[in-house]
Amino acid sequence: MSLQTDLYKEVIIEHSANPRGKKRLNQPTHALDARNPLCGDECHLELRMDGGVIQDIGITGEGCSISKASASLLTETVRGLKTDEARALVTRLKGMLIDGNETAFDDELEDLQALSGVRQYPVRIKCATLAWNTLEQAMQEIQARTEAENHS
Ligand code: ZN
Repeated sequence: MSLQTDLYKEVIIEHSANPRGKKRLNQPTHALDARNPLCGDECHLELRMDGGVIQDIGITGEGCSISKASASLLTETVRGLKTDEARALVTRLKGMLIDGNETAFDDELEDLQALSGVRQYPVRIKCATLAWNTLEQAMQEIQARTEAENHS
């Protein structure tokens, strides 16, 4: 096993043991539920949006260690992003996990690279993408609503 694989594993274990952003928000502006039936992972995602920017995010729900770590990493990285920036990040992450793109996350996004270790276990990819797909759906709904409002 390579040193890099060990490091990735450590990040996943640490985040699943101490999930960041595992909370219910006081006044969420949006909430969404999703499940990964293959594994039984649940994701309840709450957002507080202001001016098209993610002010706060919380994810609760039970799941395996990969789904918990992935949700934790998500909440750490999307605060302060606009809807289209968040969607771009989801696309990048799914490109790494599903299409095997050798995308390099650096600086404050560096920990996201740890999720690339999941590629070795194809059945677990849906665990790793659950929270991200849920966020993507939320961003799409918010953008669709904003567009509808702008055209009325
Ligand atoms: Zn799972």
